[in-house]
Amino acid sequence: DKLREERTRYLTDEKRIKAVTVCFTDLEGRLHMLDYDKKFLLKSADNLTFDGSSIRGFSAQAESDLRLNVDWSSFYWLPSDIFGPGKVLVFSEVLERDGSSYASDMRGVLKRLTGQMFQKDGLICHAAPEIEGFLFKGRDAERHYHETNQFEFISTGGYYHSLPGDSLRSFIDHAAEAQRAMGFQNEKDHPEVAPSQFEMNFSYSEALISADQIQLYKLLCRQVAAQLGLTASFLPKPMMGVNGNGMHMNLSLSKGGKNLFFEKGGQDGLSQLGWDTIDRILNNANDICLVLNSSVNAYRRLDPHYEAPNQIKASPNNRGAMVRIPFGNERSARIEVRSVAPDANPYLVLYTLLRTALEGPAPQEDAETKRSRTRFLPDNIFDAVRLFKGSQFISQILGEVVQGKYAELKQSSAERCPKQLGTRVKAAEIQFH
Ligand code: GLU
Ligand code: MG
Ligand code: MG
Repeated sequence: DKLREERTRYLTDEKRIKAVTVCFTDLEGRLHMLDYDKKFLLKSADNLTFDGSSIRGFSAQAESDLRLNVDWSSFYWLPSDIFGPGKVLVFSEVLERDGSSYASDMRGVLKRLTGQMFQKDGLICHAAPEIEGFLFKGRDAERHYHETNQFEFISTGGYYHSLPGDSLRSFIDHAAEAQRAMGFQNEKDHPEVAPSQFEMNFSYSEALISADQIQLYKLLCRQVAAQLGLTASFLPKPMMGVNGNGMHMNLSLSKGGKNLFFEKGGQDGLSQLGWDTIDRILNNANDICLVLNSSVNAYRRLDPHYEAPNQIKASPNNRGAMVRIPFGNERSARIEVRSVAPDANPYLVLYTLLRTALEGPAPQEDAETKRSRTRFLPDNIFDAVRLFKGSQFISQILGEVVQGKYAELKQSSAERCPKQLGTRVKAAEIQFH
């Protein structure tokens, strides 16, 4: 409440701010934005409503009015050269009409979980996503795919090769600058392995902030690209025959400033808690796969020939394993979940990984034995939906209503595509997130 007071005072006093963009995310991970005039927002912050029936996966017609409750802890200036002058952005919680939490609002669900973890056990989860994307010619390349049936690269350079002045490099520079302006702690950025592919890394944050930043990263990349007459695409596998887009998720737990995943002399430098987390993620990999790989297209990506994992395994160096254990020290020890695609709902991803880490059913048999056996992730969305729907653990953490809704959305997106996908990406696989 102190934050709310502070920030509303700032909004009132700061004459340059004219409008506030209020955001929330639907169950499938799409970001929705409503722009409020600043004065109106300041007057009506306690009574913001919107029509949830037009948001896929949200309310049924009968319960169409939902409420927005601004989360004043999230507050971002939007760089004016990209978003227009005088705007700030905040995230909000989605509430039922009566003010109770809305079950499909995964941001709210994640926020409550991380709050409880801290309150009960002093635990903080840090997350750092590595989000890859492609840059294609044309402003609306994804939408035009069904007419042209192709994406056009804007550059041929591979990993690290791009020269200053190259159009990919210049996009990355613009986007990195936009990140800085929004308060991200940039770390490094580079063209990725495939032609016209990029990745920009920023510092880890607490899980909720990290999930917000994923939404902002994709938003600002798309905006910057559009300004240059290009399209930034986060489809997991827009082109066959070259690497796809991953969103590797680096995770650790800490308490009182101490990284609980680190142990000097532990196997691969990880503590018992680190290994328990890995074992639980591997043991429930099939149940949670649909959360991490949430689209038809995502299953094209999971191919170790293109550095994307299809094995339910952990390894320090095998890129075909869904969990990697990066070389770390006291500060940086972590696990990297590699089987996440950038079109997944980041709140749902982090919530599910956290619940799995803390309470996912552990392997019955000796974990060591199970770890070394080769098992594979589902290679198509139909299997992933079936496994998700049938999972006891998923009902336990998401509740049957959200489990059912999510499965239904995914099933219907799967049914828009042929069962045998073939060697060309179909226009029906393309979703906008
Ligand atoms: N592009 C690869 C993927 O789809 C990852 C490459 C890398 O290791 O950075 O996950
Ligand atoms: Mg990468
Ligand atoms: Mg990585």
